[in-house]
Amino acid sequence: MPSPVEELAPPDIIAKYEPVIGLEVHVQLATATKIFCGCPTSFGASPNTNVCPVCLGLPGALPVLSREAVEIAMKGGLALNCRIRPMSRFARKNYFYPDLPKGYQISQYDEPLAEHGHVEISLGEKTKRIGITRAHMEDDAGKSIHQGFPDSDRYSYVDLNRCGTPLIEIVTEPDLRSSDEAYAFLTELKQMMQFVDVSACDMEKGQLRCDANVSVRLKGAEQFGTKAEVKNLNSFRFLKMALDYEIARQVSVLEAGGKVEQETRLYDASTGETMGMRSKEHAHDYRYFPEPDLVPLRISESWLADVRSRMPELPAQKRSRFIESYGLREYDSQVLTSAQEISDYFENVAAVSGDPRMAANWVMGDLMGALKAEAKDISQSPVQPGHLGELVALIGKGEISGKMAKEIFAKMFSTGDAAPAIIEREGLKQISDSGALEKIVDEVLAANPKQVEQYRDGKTAVLGFLVGQAMQRSKGQADPVKIRQMLEKELKEPPKP
Ligand code: ADP
Ligand code: ZN
Ligand code: MG
Repeated sequence: MPSPVEELAPPDIIAKYEPVIGLEVHVQLATATKIFCGCPTSFGASPNTNVCPVCLGLPGALPVLSREAVEIAMKGGLALNCRIRPMSRFARKNYFYPDLPKGYQISQYDEPLAEHGHVEISLGEKTKRIGITRAHMEDDAGKSIHQGFPDSDRYSYVDLNRCGTPLIEIVTEPDLRSSDEAYAFLTELKQMMQFVDVSACDMEKGQLRCDANVSVRLKGAEQFGTKAEVKNLNSFRFLKMALDYEIARQVSVLEAGGKVEQETRLYDASTGETMGMRSKEHAHDYRYFPEPDLVPLRISESWLADVRSRMPELPAQKRSRFIESYGLREYDSQVLTSAQEISDYFENVAAVSGDPRMAANWVMGDLMGALKAEAKDISQSPVQPGHLGELVALIGKGEISGKMAKEIFAKMFSTGDAAPAIIEREGLKQISDSGALEKIVDEVLAANPKQVEQYRDGKTAVLGFLVGQAMQRSKGQADPVKIRQMLEKELKEPPKP
């Protein structure tokens, strides 16, 4: 069956056009309380329990701006390389909807907190700079629930717990040129917001929401085409699929001699299509006006400098530091900075191990593999980073072989114990004591006279066999490098009388 995209236009026709995309991303700020009142922002509370006269918009209740929310929004703006305005202002954005009891959203309009920023995204080998138009603060609305009740065919319900949750809305310049670039941008943005503790960005909890503006133009054309705004993109995968669909749809409209309508469209994940929701004639007139209950937000230079000084390292900075100071490959540094917990874990292992590259291999290979097999997160790892570092150090010191380390690691993972305890318990210590090794070597040479003769006749490849025999005799505990050296030495000496 052809996909919805293939039904619209064949790839060679789509390739004649260049997509232009700008994103509007809502990020929930990681505050304990709401933006204009003291209600908790906790997720999953009983409906309509985290509310008060302010967030319910009851007459006479006055908003008080949360300092914590402003500070987190500032961090978000700084992460996006934005200029933080010394003065920004809140406005009322008026519209009527059951999940908005005030009848307006409090948002920043023409004087946003942060503007003129940019984000570097990496596209394979290349990087590209995406402009950030602005990042402004606003409060969230509640949630209408149209399904799941016995009388849902007649009624909708509303949960106002989310009303007043602090958000920043991040608006990009129309700099993205494909669904892959949009995907890469959102990935980078999410990582950045997590690293600077602006938000956990859990999409399932609605902490990261994205709308996409899309247009297409013939390649080489100067003018942008008319854009459509696509909403309801609640996963990274849906964003990419919705964009690919919408690009193909606009191409097919233009190819048929039609015109793209400026409109808002909804993505339907069940069909993979976007559908018209409201056209320009029905566009909202929000009648913005300054919020009379809030004074302008002033950010002093000293406050900004203080927040700036407390900014943690951003993912891109961390990636280059990992490459430079640990000698990691680009790919490894990307994997190891994909989340704050992973990079913290790795750095702990690296510090204890004394061998960052081997530490990286163990974290990315054995540890992540074992975690994945048990559907565990790195924060739930039964192996402490210090313990893994110690294991790597033991390999480095030649106390255990790589093969034994794998065995020990499996036991560490299932018990949570440290390597030395397991080595002790299981008698797994590598034999590197020369006396013990000499004994093994002598035994092997005595037991395999045929191979010894072959070696002395010039068939030096049998050395591998003899090493294997020695390892077997030692139950895998001999140091294979030393064994090889000692065997070679013995074999090169003239036969003993
Ligand atoms: P509006 O006036 O409809 O709100 P804006 O100019 O404020 O439009 O832009 C809103 C978003 O749409 C931004 O992310 C911007 O990058 C993007 N955008 C603007 N023009 C286009 C276009 N022609 N094609 C795709 N995206 C666009
Ligand atoms: Zn409240
Ligand atoms: Mg606009």
